[in-house]
Amino acid sequence: MLSSKELSFRDPGLMPIWNKVRNGIRLSKEDGLVLYSTHDLIGLGRMANEVSRAKSGDTVYFVLNQKFEPTNICVLSCKFCDFAVKKGSPEAYEQSIEEMLDILNPDIREVHITMGLHPDWEWQHYVDMVRRIKEAYPLIDVKAFTAVEIVFFAKKFKKTHEEVLSELKAVGLRTMPGGGAEVFSERVRKLIFNQKIGAKTWFEVHRKAHKLGIQSNVTMLYGHVETFEERIEHMIKLREVQDETGGFMTFIPLAFQPGDTGIKTKNNFTSAIDDLKTIAISRLMLDNIAHIKAYWVMLTAEVAAVALNFGADDMDGIVGHERIAHDAGATSPMQLAKEKIISIIHEAGKVPIERDVWYNPLHIYPAEGTSIVSKMPYLNSVPFYSNFEPELAEIKLSPLVPRVFGQFAKEGKVDAGPMSLMDYVASQDEFEMLDYGVAVSGKAYSVLLYSHHDWKHLSGKTIGLTAESSTSVELLRVLLEKKYGVTGVTFERLHLTSGQNDYTKFDAVLLIGDEALRRWKVGLASFLNVYDLAEEWYEWKKMPFVFAVWAVRNSIPAAHKEAIRNALEGSITRSKGHYDELGREHAKRLGLTREDLAMYLNAFTYRLGEQERSAMEEFLKEQAVLA
Ligand code: SF4
Repeated sequence: MLSSKELSFRDPGLMPIWNKVRNGIRLSKEDGLVLYSTHDLIGLGRMANEVSRAKSGDTVYFVLNQKFEPTNICVLSCKFCDFAVKKGSPEAYEQSIEEMLDILNPDIREVHITMGLHPDWEWQHYVDMVRRIKEAYPLIDVKAFTAVEIVFFAKKFKKTHEEVLSELKAVGLRTMPGGGAEVFSERVRKLIFNQKIGAKTWFEVHRKAHKLGIQSNVTMLYGHVETFEERIEHMIKLREVQDETGGFMTFIPLAFQPGDTGIKTKNNFTSAIDDLKTIAISRLMLDNIAHIKAYWVMLTAEVAAVALNFGADDMDGIVGHERIAHDAGATSPMQLAKEKIISIIHEAGKVPIERDVWYNPLHIYPAEGTSIVSKMPYLNSVPFYSNFEPELAEIKLSPLVPRVFGQFAKEGKVDAGPMSLMDYVASQDEFEMLDYGVAVSGKAYSVLLYSHHDWKHLSGKTIGLTAESSTSVELLRVLLEKKYGVTGVTFERLHLTSGQNDYTKFDAVLLIGDEALRRWKVGLASFLNVYDLAEEWYEWKKMPFVFAVWAVRNSIPAAHKEAIRNALEGSITRSKGHYDELGREHAKRLGLTREDLAMYLNAFTYRLGEQERSAMEEFLKEQAVLA
């Protein structure tokens, strides 16, 4: 992140670390240890909160999920595990697939399955478990089986790890939970879970999963026999593999619950200070992991709420039938109602967003009196937000792709942001336009049509369309019909999560934003023709194309409008001249260089003048004829 924000610290040792963080320089192991040793808890939390804001705005995500542990019978006996028993034990239980299905309901969006390593269950049972849940509830995504379970299945059923993962993916496995390795330290593994797989095998399984398009989480069980150094090494190992695969979504620090495990810790439970420090340090160390989860089941709801200002941007939703932590003595109630989660997030001064398994927003729940500003999560919008510091605390930022912003704006839940031109036109009665937006004269590099055919031969063909924006889709229609005279095209919307799309079934595919940029240098599958829609428009009309305009809801208080306008003007002004550094984080993720970045951002106009307004009119005229 690049930030001009000045923070002050009671511990002067934190200043050099903050300077590194705000200049986008990765923290070292030594930095991590300084953070663990600091007495300046508040300073540490403020740094982590700034990093979290740069990534997720003021948003805290939650997903309504149902946890299943269908059996506690396990062939292993890990020393720290208070959950597993042997077959025949009076505490042993087995839950059938029917019993699992009985518990589910259509409000749930994610099922989380982990369990003991059962000595007798057949492979087909696990496949059926995933398949039947998916068949009964197509909208529920299945997050199942840790790397330990995948390795167990592979050995027991004589399959490779890839075969196990592919067969599960084919019946509906979407993501994997992050447990199983506990702490990536051989010393700790030998001491308390020597029967389990080590870090090397754990990462091998996750690498293979990521290659197959199965994203995963990663946990760290802390507060037992591990040292601070081993915690930091855990984070650094994870960071290195994430650089390679990009497949980890969320880091979840898990506070150890001693229960009857017999493992002696200094105090029986981790302290709230240790929990908060660990959340904050993980946010600062893991610059390439998008989300940090406050796992309230183990932290307690009170500490989890504070953690939302210490770098965490995700909370578990309704967690039903959570046994592992409770068998070890966790004190949180078994189910926090959705309203309770929302009120915890509001108390923390954040914006609750209910999400799906890939962090696509489903619903937003703004607190009374706040105005929500949409943070477009694309590289081309970085100048709007890199220094966006509204004077009023009531102004909150939430990352939303244009189409979701449009939908939430229509529901009256989001009040300002760079609105897709088509959405603005549809809601002009409720929104006023500011003099800012995203426009380009020539190539946009990030609104691309990948096609097997040239324009003239797209008639009668099927085009897969980005699910993220309606303006680029309308631009495509205008170019097809008005510029090239092509009709009879069938359009099909793509999935919001790129990894879930099969592009090969289309004759052409329209991608926008970072998804298009990611393919700037490498292309897309076997599509030979690549058309930049903004360039096509410019060559045709000799006018810029305006993709988005900043719009503000008429009904929000005048002071909020003013604060938004000032913050925006400040950010655009301060960002100018720093384009090569600004989106460094994005660039790395997208495989672009500093030079690419500067060229890309310099192509855009962020202040809209007469020329842009005339271009908008011209486009809307062309589009209206089609509509
Ligand atoms: S931690 Fe997992 S593998 Fe180890 S005993 Fe418990 S359930 Fe079995």
